[in-house]
Amino acid sequence: MMGLRHLFGIAGLEKEQMEYLLNLGESFVDVSRRPIRKAPTLRGKTVINLFFENSTRTRTSFEIAGKRLSADVINISASTSATKKGESLLDTGQTLAAMQPHVLVIRHSVAGTCEFLSEYLTNTAIVNAGDGAHEHPTQVLTDLLTLKMAGGYEGKVVTMVGDISHSRVARSHLLAAKLMGYQVRLVAPKTLLPSQVERYGCEVTHDFDEAIPGSDVLYMLRVQSERLTDSCAFPSIREYHEAYGLNRKRLAAAGEGCLVMHPGPMNRGVEIATDVADSASSRILNQVENGVAVRMAVLTALCGADTGGEE
Ligand code: ASP
Repeated sequence: MMGLRHLFGIAGLEKEQMEYLLNLGESFVDVSRRPIRKAPTLRGKTVINLFFENSTRTRTSFEIAGKRLSADVINISASTSATKKGESLLDTGQTLAAMQPHVLVIRHSVAGTCEFLSEYLTNTAIVNAGDGAHEHPTQVLTDLLTLKMAGGYEGKVVTMVGDISHSRVARSHLLAAKLMGYQVRLVAPKTLLPSQVERYGCEVTHDFDEAIPGSDVLYMLRVQSERLTDSCAFPSIREYHEAYGLNRKRLAAAGEGCLVMHPGPMNRGVEIATDVADSASSRILNQVENGVAVRMAVLTALCGADTGGEE
């Protein structure tokens, strides 16, 4: 119905497709709140989660999304996969595809892994669940559904703070903002900004306090130490928290109505103070809840189940 064969990233998606997924996602929120959390939409469909990088939220979310819609869901993680025995990524992909899953959900540290595999696995829909520092489309859908349910995302100013350079979430938001009509502001020390950041055409500052007025969302990012090659990216955790951590005082400066978001996992006391993470302004757990609903929508659309089962 919406012409979506794979979901590699926000790049390549059209506004109508995003809106379609958000509306479908919103219609699924209720399934997870019923006493019996099950719908038959994906009965007879098989989803394989293939995760080469650690994940709690995204992997569990895809698993629950598939199961709530009655799909058969199989999880494979790098530590238990045959790549540990020397099998290539392509061989692992082709082996799994030979078992005829409808959807393969992949997380990998290398950007472009999903596009690469899709050239060989022609019968399987592929979802990017995060590829290196490149894209994380279902996180952005999660965030937009959360904003939609909190009153809307259009015209909003989302201030993203922290490790922008390694953040696939920030990158996907920068692409989505142009498409969906909201604004992204970036706040980070020079060492945690991508090179040529100007090409995104958004406001960029090194001063968090300067970026707070006018923000509708303060979106905090984890420092991705697993991707840091420069041990001098910032002086110390304490100084980082002072300059770039979201505390009560900064939240108060943002004014009433400003929401706090985080894609998780949070490092309390580093990018976000504990009382702010648990405050009434926080939508962090709503993001997690809505993540299940948008992934239900993505799996449904890719399985063709939104057209009554015709693929
Ligand atoms: N969960 C997000 C991601 O997978 C953000 C993070 O890991 O810090 O990109």
